[in-house]
Amino acid sequence: MKHSITLFVTQKCNLRCPYCFVDKESEELQIWEIDKLFVTNRSHINHVTLTGGEPMMRHDIGLVIGVLKFLRIPFTLCTNGYKWENLVEYLQRISTTEYAIQVSIDGNPDTHDRLRGTGSYERAHSLLQHIGKSSIPSNIVITVSNTNIGSVKDVLDLSLRVKVPCSINFVRGKPPDINPGQMSDVINAWVRYAKLFGFSRQAIMMHAQRMKIVRDYLHHRKTWPFPCIANGQLTTLWANGDIGPCEKLPPIGNIRRWNYNLKPAWREMQVNRDGCYCDFDCEILHSMKSVRGFWSLIR
Ligand code: SF4
Ligand code: SF4
Repeated sequence: MKHSITLFVTQKCNLRCPYCFVDKESEELQIWEIDKLFVTNRSHINHVTLTGGEPMMRHDIGLVIGVLKFLRIPFTLCTNGYKWENLVEYLQRISTTEYAIQVSIDGNPDTHDRLRGTGSYERAHSLLQHIGKSSIPSNIVITVSNTNIGSVKDVLDLSLRVKVPCSINFVRGKPPDINPGQMSDVINAWVRYAKLFGFSRQAIMMHAQRMKIVRDYLHHRKTWPFPCIANGQLTTLWANGDIGPCEKLPPIGNIRRWNYNLKPAWREMQVNRDGCYCDFDCEILHSMKSVRGFWSLIR
C-alpha cells in the first residue's frame, strides 16, 4: 500500500493568522535528511503535500522541490502566496502533471488582510492571476469561521474570475464559532458555485459530504460513516522529523530513530483506529476516497 505524506518543510511563517496551530519555533530536518527520507522510501510513496508554516520561508525549498522532481514524486505545495515569484521559478522545469499549488484566501481584500496582515491579499491575488493565465494546476482554499463567513461569496466570486477552483474548510481544532445553520448555508453556497464553475458531479458530492461530516461531527458529535485511513495510508511528518498518522494525534517518534526508513515507523503506527473521529477535513476526504469510504457513501 502506497502512502501519501504530509511534510511540514518548515514551521516558520511570515504571517500570524489567528487560527494557526503551528509552533513557529520548531527545528527543521536538513536537506540531506529530506533527500535520504525520499530516496529510501520512494517506492512506498505516491504523493507528498509540502506544507508549514509557509513552505516558501524555508531557505532551501528549491532543493526540496528538486529532490521530489528528481525522484518523480507528485506533490502539492500549500502557500499563502507571499513569495510566489520564487515558487513559479522553482516550478518552471517540472511537468505540470507532477505538482499542484494550493493558495489560501481568507476573504475579500479587507477581511484577508485583517486576518493575515496588510498586503497579504495583494500577494496571493497576484499569484492567482499568474496561475489563471498559465496551466499550473491549483486550487484556492478558504478556512471559514465567524470572522470571515460574510466573505465566503467574495472568495467564490474571485475563484470564478481567476478560473482557479475553490474548496472550503472550517476552522479546525476549536469548538465551532458558527452554528449548524450557518455551516449549511456555506455548504449550499459552495454547491451552487461548484455547479457554475463546472466541477464534476462526483467532486461536488464528495466535497459537500466532507463539509457535512465536519458540521455533524462538530455540532452533533456524529461520527464519520467510514473509518479514518490516517494510520494506514496517510502519514504526517513534522518539520523536526517527528512522525505520526495525522496532525491531530501525538507523534509516535522521530524519523531519525528509524534512520529515515518509514516502514518500521508505519509498523508501529498500525494500531486499530476504528472509532477515532475528528474535524480534520483533509483526512475525511482521503478516507472518503478509500474503498470502504466510497461504498459507505453510495449505499
Ligand atoms: S499562513 Fe498558514 S502557517 Fe502562516 S500563520 Fe497563517 S495559517 Fe499559520
Ligand atoms: S480521525 Fe482524526 S485524529 Fe483520528 S486518526 Fe483520523 S485524522 Fe487522526
